[in-house]
Amino acid sequence: MLFNTQIVAHRTVANGTHEVTFKRPAGFEFKAGQYTQVAVSKLIAPDPKGRSRQFSLASPPEDRKHLRVVFRASGSGFKKTLMSIPKNSTVTIEQASGSFLFPDEVNKSHVFVAGGVGIAPFMSYLPQQREKTLHHPLTLYYGNKDSHSAAYLAELEQLSEEQQQFSIHNLYHQPSPDLFSDLVEKHPNAVWWIVGPPAMVAVVISGLRTGGVLSDHIFTESFEGY
Ligand SMILES: Cc1cc2nc3c(=O)[nH]c(=O)nc-3n(C[C@H](O)[C@H](O)[C@H](O)COP(=O)(O)OP(=O)(O)OC[C@H]3O[C@@H](n4cnc5c(N)ncnc54)[C@H](O)[C@@H]3O)c2cc1C
Repeated sequence: MLFNTQIVAHRTVANGTHEVTFKRPAGFEFKAGQYTQVAVSKLIAPDPKGRSRQFSLASPPEDRKHLRVVFRASGSGFKKTLMSIPKNSTVTIEQASGSFLFPDEVNKSHVFVAGGVGIAPFMSYLPQQREKTLHHPLTLYYGNKDSHSAAYLAELEQLSEEQQQFSIHNLYHQPSPDLFSDLVEKHPNAVWWIVGPPAMVAVVISGLRTGGVLSDHIFTESFEGY
């Protein structure tokens, strides 16, 4: 199902990282972790991949007014076009889909691993946890080139102050399988959620499997196309 919607805002959320806010159309339902496909009517620069892209929803489902997506401003024809579209202009979004769905109740330890804008689905889920009484830790490993390219870092650090069970660890170097196999013993019996470019997701899975994490304790969303 397709929805016409309007762009409400553009915002830079880290170095070279762009967030677009859309009006949430009536009837657009989603769960934290799902993605949509955004289509523009006409490209302003050529793009061999066409005039639409999939993006994870980075806003919480409780926000009935707005939807947000975030991406690195790479210079591809599609992204150049989306960034140039003025407020109040219309784009098309597809009904949300995807099976990367977080648990409603946190009844065990969860570890989130985000590579760059792979933080998007976690930004949809984590705000819901702010007010809850959690009995198990939520830990985020957040990989970026440096702090300036880490989107939503201030919000995440604020959340870690407000929710004692949530902690964030920034990684400012290329991930290696060894790093993640070593981390396994810090998080016994945890469920791991990994989001980012396919190469990064593969590195983390490889480390976790070496460290003994069972495949049914690993959930992934690969941002194919990066
Ligand atoms: C389920 C799912 C969820 C996803 N969620 C997200 C998400 O939340 N956020 C996100 O960002 N992506 C997400 N993706 C990936 C997204 O759909 C795109 O594939 C990805 O962002 C790459 O974008 P792009 O194709 O525009 O290529 P980019 O990698 O952005 O750019 C590709 C091409 O653009 C050109 N280009 C790049 N830089 C320049 C430049 N400086 N000058 C001129 N040309 C240049 C080059 O030809 C380059 O090869 C998701 C994918 C899936 C499958």
